[in-house]
Amino acid sequence: MPELPEVETIVRGLTAVSGARIDALQVLDSRLEIPADEISGRTIEAIRRRGKYIVFHLSGGRLLIVHLRMSGRLTLTRSPAEKKYTRFILHFDRGKVYFINPRRLGTVEYSRSGFPHLLGVEPLSTAFTAEWLEGVSAASRAQIKPLLMDQKRIAGLGNIYAAEALWRGGIDPRRVAARLTKEEIQALHPAIVQVLHEAIDRMGTTLGRSVADYRDVSGDYGDFQGRLAVYGRKGEPCRRCRAVIERIVQAGRSTFFCPGCQG
Ligand SMILES: [Zn+2]
Repeated sequence: MPELPEVETIVRGLTAVSGARIDALQVLDSRLEIPADEISGRTIEAIRRRGKYIVFHLSGGRLLIVHLRMSGRLTLTRSPAEKKYTRFILHFDRGKVYFINPRRLGTVEYSRSGFPHLLGVEPLSTAFTAEWLEGVSAASRAQIKPLLMDQKRIAGLGNIYAAEALWRGGIDPRRVAARLTKEEIQALHPAIVQVLHEAIDRMGTTLGRSVADYRDVSGDYGDFQGRLAVYGRKGEPCRRCRAVIERIVQAGRSTFFCPGCQG
């Protein structure tokens, strides 16, 4: 599932169409409630990421907002196999952007009045400091991993990178956030920032090879999956202490962690 690094990679890849005028928006899925006539003819002034959202800033202050959810993709190229999963196409004089959405879980919204979602702090912004994380943790009764994945607190972290950051910080994902020590927060904060930067540098994580798995806008797979320390590694030895990685279910989601070095 695309998280901050994958979405950031896609947004960076879409700069090729930033500044371009949309000749036409072709909607291929009747369930998409977006006014194609109103969007066609507008210029894309910027393309930005907010949390896991991809936001096309259009002329006239309009926003076209895409969330990929589990398996959506935005791509500049399309394979024949992807044709039947294509839900919209943005046409430009310099090319096309395809929205591929195999399971129809990805969402598309159009806004005339700004970004409509309340999201927390961006973890790669200067607002995300160890002190800020300490304050949010101290005020929470949640376990630390679900807290890290709460988009209203921190925008963009999901199941993979929350687990990886906790492993790097040496913190058990089941710990109650408010009970983490200052030293633990001081270890967790840079772990979050570093794992996100490293994953962006490697164009994100691709877990499989199906039509629903993440790829960048050129159709290339991410390269961070080989660097995962705990996610998807149940039964394998910890890269740090050689204990066997475990999988538990937390807040309805899989959590992978090392019982040896995440105390
Ligand atoms: Zn370990």
